[in-house]
Amino acid sequence: MHLLNADLHSHSSVSDGTLAPEALAERAAAAGVELWALTDHDEISGLARAREAALDLGMAFLGGCEISVSYAGETVHVVGLGVDGTNGPLVAGLEATRAGRRERARAMAEGLARVGIRGAFEGALKYVGNPDLISRTHFARYIVEAGHCAHTHEVFQRYLTDGKPGYVPHQWATLADAVAWIRGAGGEAVIAHPGRYKFTANGEWGLFTDFMGHGGRGVEVVTGSHTVAEQVRYGDAAIEYGLAASRGSDFHSPEESRTALGALPDLPGRLTPVWTLLAHRIESRTPLDLAAA
Ligand code: AMP
Ligand code: MN
Ligand code: MN
Ligand code: MN
Repeated sequence: MHLLNADLHSHSSVSDGTLAPEALAERAAAAGVELWALTDHDEISGLARAREAALDLGMAFLGGCEISVSYAGETVHVVGLGVDGTNGPLVAGLEATRAGRRERARAMAEGLARVGIRGAFEGALKYVGNPDLISRTHFARYIVEAGHCAHTHEVFQRYLTDGKPGYVPHQWATLADAVAWIRGAGGEAVIAHPGRYKFTANGEWGLFTDFMGHGGRGVEVVTGSHTVAEQVRYGDAAIEYGLAASRGSDFHSPEESRTALGALPDLPGRLTPVWTLLAHRIESRTPLDLAAA
């Protein structure tokens, strides 16, 4: 049976990816992706360009975003799929979520300067495609360029995670708001890469029940940041909680991403693909056989 090649998690230069939305669309289409979503961090300003490019390339498209959320003492990410990027409350909510990134970045640069990494604010800015969205990823690229670390993953471990010199805690959106903005904009909310959270305060299943209580209906099962064991663990959780399952590479750049666009295992047949909840939101110039997927 033909399984749909859906990639529902990727980043462009509108957030912390390195490719423009059009170039990302081209790369996805060339890789055989049939249904694609752009999910920039806290931003939907790339969606119109991404949509045009995707439709021109014969790819089906879902507007998306990945919202930063503060939950039980840690940062979790909620992916919105099928959102209308012109929806007022979503646009305003994301704008409020982005606010403060610049001040945070200045404080990060001060912490880094104290351990001998100079000029990090200006250095990170050179990699920023959207002045409203300066992120830790941009700092990581600069710190590699400046020769302090061999690769960005090492930068996160040594400098940019909780307790390290360049880490500055930040207050992001609430879980309730993030889910409400996504659903209010016509989309479905999905817990991004659950395998990456520590779940110290509330336990991982506390996040699942709170998320569902707010109206969330999906969880990423097959993602670039899950091991095979995590795919099984969160596939089981999707069934136990009655959540739909998503599949996405979390692609950021040809140089840095572990997983290429569209190059993921298929969702196990026992799961309900999240795109079956979003058939009415998928845009495509050619018919897409969701039934076969
Ligand atoms: P921010 O929103 O500024 O806190 O940046 C978060 C981004 O940093 C994530 O979306 C990832 O792209 C990146 N990131 C987080 N942890 C790591 C890691 N260990 N290695 C590489 N990139 C990471
Ligand atoms: Mn990122
Ligand atoms: Mn994420
Ligand atoms: Mn992501």
